[in-house]
Amino acid sequence: MDKNFWQLGAWRGVPVALHWTVLFVFVWLYFFFRDFLATVIASFAFFGLLVVHELGHAAMLRWKKIEVERITFFGLHGSTEYSWASAVNEILIAWGGVAAQLVLLLVAIAISFVPGISSTPIVSTIAVPVLFVFIQVNIFMMVVALLPIGPFDGRRAWAVIPRTRDRMRQRRKAANARKVDPEKGLSKAKRRELEDASAKEAAALLEKLSRNTRSRNEDA
Ligand SMILES: [Zn+2]
Repeated sequence: MDKNFWQLGAWRGVPVALHWTVLFVFVWLYFFFRDFLATVIASFAFFGLLVVHELGHAAMLRWKKIEVERITFFGLHGSTEYSWASAVNEILIAWGGVAAQLVLLLVAIAISFVPGISSTPIVSTIAVPVLFVFIQVNIFMMVVALLPIGPFDGRRAWAVIPRTRDRMRQRRKAANARKVDPEKGLSKAKRRELEDASAKEAAALLEKLSRNTRSRNEDA
Protein backbone atom coordinates (compact mmCIF):
# COMPACT_ATOMS: atom_id res chain seq x y z
CA MET A 1 0.00 0.00 0.00
CA ASP A 2 1.35 3.49 -0.89
CA LYS A 3 1.95 6.72 1.03
CA ASN A 4 -1.58 8.02 0.31
CA PHE A 5 -2.95 5.70 2.97
CA TRP A 6 -2.67 5.51 6.72
CA GLN A 7 -2.88 2.01 8.07
CA LEU A 8 -5.41 2.02 10.89
CA GLY A 9 -4.75 -1.59 11.82
CA ALA A 10 -6.90 -4.65 11.47
CA TRP A 11 -10.50 -5.46 12.30
CA ARG A 12 -10.96 -9.20 12.84
CA GLY A 13 -7.90 -9.83 10.71
CA VAL A 14 -9.10 -7.52 7.90
CA PRO A 15 -6.64 -4.67 7.15
CA VAL A 16 -8.25 -1.22 7.52
CA ALA A 17 -6.74 1.90 5.92
CA LEU A 18 -7.54 5.61 5.67
CA HIS A 19 -6.88 7.68 2.54
CA TRP A 20 -5.63 11.27 3.03
CA THR A 21 -8.72 12.58 1.18
CA VAL A 22 -10.68 12.12 4.44
CA LEU A 23 -9.30 15.59 5.25
CA PHE A 24 -11.62 17.05 2.60
CA VAL A 25 -14.53 16.08 4.81
CA PHE A 26 -13.34 18.54 7.43
CA VAL A 27 -13.42 21.41 4.91
CA TRP A 28 -16.79 20.29 3.56
CA LEU A 29 -18.37 20.13 7.01
CA TYR A 30 -16.84 23.49 8.02
CA PHE A 31 -19.04 25.10 5.34
CA PHE A 32 -22.11 23.89 7.26
CA PHE A 33 -21.06 24.83 10.78
CA ARG A 34 -18.57 27.74 10.44
CA ASP A 35 -17.39 26.60 13.85
CA PHE A 36 -14.20 24.69 14.59
CA LEU A 37 -15.42 22.51 17.47
CA ALA A 38 -18.68 21.57 15.77
CA THR A 39 -16.74 20.69 12.60
CA VAL A 40 -14.32 18.44 14.53
CA ILE A 41 -17.22 16.63 16.22
CA ALA A 42 -19.11 16.33 12.93
CA SER A 43 -15.98 14.98 11.20
CA PHE A 44 -15.74 12.17 13.74
CA ALA A 45 -19.45 11.48 13.29
CA PHE A 46 -18.97 11.43 9.52
CA PHE A 47 -16.16 8.91 9.85
CA GLY A 48 -18.51 6.87 12.06
CA LEU A 49 -21.08 7.02 9.27
CA LEU A 50 -18.57 5.63 6.76
CA VAL A 51 -17.64 2.88 9.23
CA VAL A 52 -21.32 1.93 9.71
CA HIS A 53 -21.78 1.76 5.92
CA GLU A 54 -18.74 -0.49 5.39
CA LEU A 55 -19.70 -2.66 8.38
CA GLY A 56 -23.07 -3.15 6.64
CA HIS A 57 -21.21 -4.62 3.66
CA ALA A 58 -18.93 -6.63 5.95
CA ALA A 59 -21.89 -8.01 7.95
CA MET A 60 -23.56 -9.17 4.73
CA LEU A 61 -20.28 -10.79 3.62
CA ARG A 62 -19.90 -12.56 6.96
CA TRP A 63 -23.50 -13.76 6.74
CA LYS A 64 -22.87 -15.15 3.25
CA LYS A 65 -19.52 -16.61 4.42
CA ILE A 66 -17.56 -14.61 1.83
CA GLU A 67 -14.07 -13.53 2.79
CA VAL A 68 -13.57 -9.78 3.45
CA GLU A 69 -10.17 -8.86 2.01
CA ARG A 70 -9.72 -5.20 2.92
CA ILE A 71 -11.65 -2.15 4.15
CA THR A 72 -10.46 1.32 3.01
CA PHE A 73 -11.85 4.77 3.84
CA PHE A 74 -11.56 7.60 1.33
CA GLY A 75 -12.76 11.18 1.68
CA LEU A 76 -16.43 10.75 1.00
CA HIS A 77 -16.78 7.02 0.80
CA GLY A 78 -15.26 3.72 1.79
CA SER A 79 -14.65 0.48 0.02
CA THR A 80 -14.87 -3.11 1.15
CA GLU A 81 -13.04 -5.60 -1.01
CA TYR A 82 -14.05 -9.22 -1.04
CA SER A 83 -13.36 -12.45 -2.83
CA TRP A 84 -15.73 -13.81 -5.48
CA ALA A 85 -19.49 -13.59 -4.90
CA SER A 86 -22.46 -14.82 -6.94
CA ALA A 87 -24.72 -12.32 -8.76
CA VAL A 88 -27.41 -12.59 -6.06
CA ASN A 89 -24.87 -12.17 -3.26
CA GLU A 90 -23.37 -9.11 -5.00
CA ILE A 91 -26.81 -7.47 -4.89
CA LEU A 92 -27.21 -8.32 -1.18
CA ILE A 93 -23.70 -7.05 -0.35
CA ALA A 94 -24.40 -3.79 -2.22
CA TRP A 95 -27.61 -3.21 -0.21
CA GLY A 96 -25.83 -4.04 3.08
CA GLY A 97 -24.10 -0.63 3.28
CA VAL A 98 -27.27 1.44 2.80
CA ALA A 99 -29.27 -0.90 5.05
CA ALA A 100 -26.81 -0.21 7.91
CA GLN A 101 -27.13 3.54 7.24
CA LEU A 102 -30.91 3.24 7.40
CA VAL A 103 -30.71 1.61 10.84
CA LEU A 104 -28.43 4.44 12.03
CA LEU A 105 -30.84 7.01 10.54
CA LEU A 106 -33.83 5.57 12.43
CA VAL A 107 -31.87 5.48 15.71
CA ALA A 108 -30.70 9.09 15.18
CA ILE A 109 -34.25 10.28 14.40
CA ALA A 110 -35.50 8.58 17.58
CA ILE A 111 -32.73 10.25 19.65
CA SER A 112 -33.51 13.65 18.11
CA PHE A 113 -36.96 13.45 19.75
CA VAL A 114 -35.48 13.07 23.24
CA PRO A 115 -36.53 16.24 25.08
CA GLY A 116 -33.77 18.75 25.82
CA ILE A 117 -31.28 17.16 23.44
CA SER A 118 -30.73 20.38 21.49
CA SER A 119 -31.47 22.85 24.29
CA THR A 120 -29.16 21.57 27.07
CA PRO A 121 -25.85 23.44 26.38
CA ILE A 122 -23.23 20.67 26.88
CA VAL A 123 -25.39 17.94 25.35
CA SER A 124 -26.31 20.04 22.32
CA THR A 125 -22.65 20.90 21.58
CA ILE A 126 -22.14 17.24 20.71
CA ALA A 127 -25.67 16.18 19.78
CA VAL A 128 -26.39 18.89 17.20
CA PRO A 129 -23.43 18.19 14.85
CA VAL A 130 -23.66 14.41 15.41
CA LEU A 131 -27.39 14.30 14.66
CA PHE A 132 -26.90 16.57 11.64
CA VAL A 133 -24.40 14.06 10.22
CA PHE A 134 -26.42 10.99 11.19
CA ILE A 135 -29.68 12.39 9.76
CA GLN A 136 -29.23 15.00 6.99
CA VAL A 137 -25.75 14.00 5.78
CA ASN A 138 -26.71 10.33 6.17
CA ILE A 139 -29.73 10.72 3.85
CA PHE A 140 -27.56 12.58 1.33
CA MET A 141 -24.92 9.82 1.46
CA MET A 142 -27.58 7.11 1.00
CA VAL A 143 -28.80 8.84 -2.16
CA VAL A 144 -25.21 9.13 -3.45
CA ALA A 145 -24.46 5.48 -2.61
CA LEU A 146 -27.50 4.37 -4.60
CA LEU A 147 -26.62 6.31 -7.76
CA PRO A 148 -26.67 3.64 -10.44
CA ILE A 149 -23.28 4.63 -11.87
CA GLY A 150 -19.52 4.17 -11.55
CA PRO A 151 -18.07 3.12 -8.21
CA PHE A 152 -21.30 3.53 -6.23
CA ASP A 153 -23.20 0.62 -4.69
CA GLY A 154 -26.25 1.54 -6.78
CA ARG A 155 -24.73 0.01 -9.89
CA ARG A 156 -24.87 -3.42 -8.24
CA ALA A 157 -27.81 -2.81 -5.92
CA TRP A 158 -30.27 -1.88 -8.68
CA ALA A 159 -29.39 -5.04 -10.62
CA VAL A 160 -32.14 -6.45 -8.40
CA ILE A 161 -34.78 -4.90 -10.74
CA PRO A 162 -33.81 -6.53 -14.09
CA ARG A 163 -33.11 -9.75 -12.18
CA THR A 164 -36.57 -9.85 -10.62
CA ARG A 165 -38.14 -8.89 -13.96
CA ASP A 166 -36.30 -11.75 -15.72
CA ARG A 167 -37.32 -14.21 -13.06
CA MET A 168 -40.97 -13.12 -13.30
CA ARG A 169 -40.81 -13.40 -17.09
CA GLN A 170 -39.39 -16.94 -16.81
CA ARG A 171 -42.10 -17.91 -14.34
CA ARG A 172 -44.78 -16.51 -16.66
CA LYS A 173 -43.27 -18.38 -19.61
CA ALA A 174 -43.29 -21.63 -17.63
CA ALA A 175 -46.93 -21.04 -16.62
CA ASN A 176 -47.90 -20.42 -20.26
CA ALA A 177 -46.06 -23.57 -21.38
CA ARG A 178 -48.07 -25.51 -18.81
CA LYS A 179 -51.30 -24.08 -20.23
CA VAL A 180 -50.36 -25.11 -23.81
CA ASP A 181 -49.11 -28.55 -22.81
CA PRO A 182 -50.68 -29.56 -19.49
CA GLU A 183 -48.40 -32.61 -19.18
CA LYS A 184 -45.35 -30.33 -18.89
CA GLY A 185 -46.55 -29.16 -15.51
CA LEU A 186 -46.67 -32.67 -14.12
CA SER A 187 -43.94 -34.29 -12.09
CA LYS A 188 -42.03 -37.21 -13.60
CA ALA A 189 -43.69 -39.77 -11.31
CA LYS A 190 -47.17 -38.42 -12.05
CA ARG A 191 -46.49 -38.47 -15.79
CA ARG A 192 -45.27 -42.08 -15.63
CA GLU A 193 -48.36 -43.02 -13.60
CA LEU A 194 -50.58 -41.46 -16.27
CA GLU A 195 -48.64 -43.17 -19.06
CA ASP A 196 -48.94 -46.55 -17.29
CA ALA A 197 -52.65 -46.03 -16.75
CA SER A 198 -53.27 -45.17 -20.41
CA ALA A 199 -51.12 -48.12 -21.54
CA LYS A 200 -53.16 -50.46 -19.32
CA GLU A 201 -56.39 -49.01 -20.67
CA ALA A 202 -55.18 -49.41 -24.25
CA ALA A 203 -54.17 -53.03 -23.55
CA ALA A 204 -57.60 -53.72 -22.01
CA LEU A 205 -59.29 -52.18 -25.03
CA LEU A 206 -57.22 -54.29 -27.43
CA GLU A 207 -57.95 -57.37 -25.37
CA LYS A 208 -61.69 -56.64 -25.52
CA LEU A 209 -61.52 -56.01 -29.28
CA SER A 210 -59.64 -59.24 -29.98
CA ARG A 211 -62.06 -61.17 -27.75
CA ASN A 212 -64.96 -59.67 -29.74
CA THR A 213 -63.38 -60.63 -33.05
CA ARG A 214 -62.59 -64.09 -31.69
CA SER A 215 -66.18 -64.68 -30.57
CA ARG A 216 -67.45 -63.33 -33.85
CA ASN A 217 -65.10 -65.71 -35.67
CA GLU A 218 -66.43 -68.54 -33.55
CA ASP A 219 -69.97 -67.52 -34.42
CA ALA A 220 -69.19 -67.67 -38.08
ZN1 LIG B 1 -20.84 0.77 -0.15
